[in-house]
Amino acid sequence: MSATSTNTWHDIPRDQIEWHPTIVADRCAGCGLCVTSCGRGVYAFDYAANKPVVVNPQMCMVGCTTCATICTQDAIEFPSQGYIRHIIRKNRVSTHAKNLLRDNREKYDVTLRKPAV
Ligand code: SF4
Ligand code: SF4
Repeated sequence: MSATSTNTWHDIPRDQIEWHPTIVADRCAGCGLCVTSCGRGVYAFDYAANKPVVVNPQMCMVGCTTCATICTQDAIEFPSQGYIRHIIRKNRVSTHAKNLLRDNREKYDVTLRKPAV
């Protein structure tokens, strides 16, 4: 049992979760900050059009909105918070998370964690 993999999120098939960025092209300034900041390879860049392209939507971390937060043009949109919370409740994701805590104490227990170096 794991929280995330390429194909699932808390055991929900990732392709059943519509969570990914959408670029609003007429607001985008083509700065590339979203492309170069996302650690999951969601974006590529269209050099001819000077715009980011969402090439791997299902690699987007469910619930993450980092690229939208840092876009100074407000050119990146996501589904609503209500949408993802509905997914969480419907699929009992909080119970899944609690089970992960119970089964992986060596990984999550604050008394066992060492600072990252
Ligand atoms: S960060 Fe915003 S303005 Fe910059 S390329 Fe991405 S969408 Fe466009
Ligand atoms: S929300 Fe996070 S994971 Fe998804 S595309 Fe933006 S930076 Fe990448």
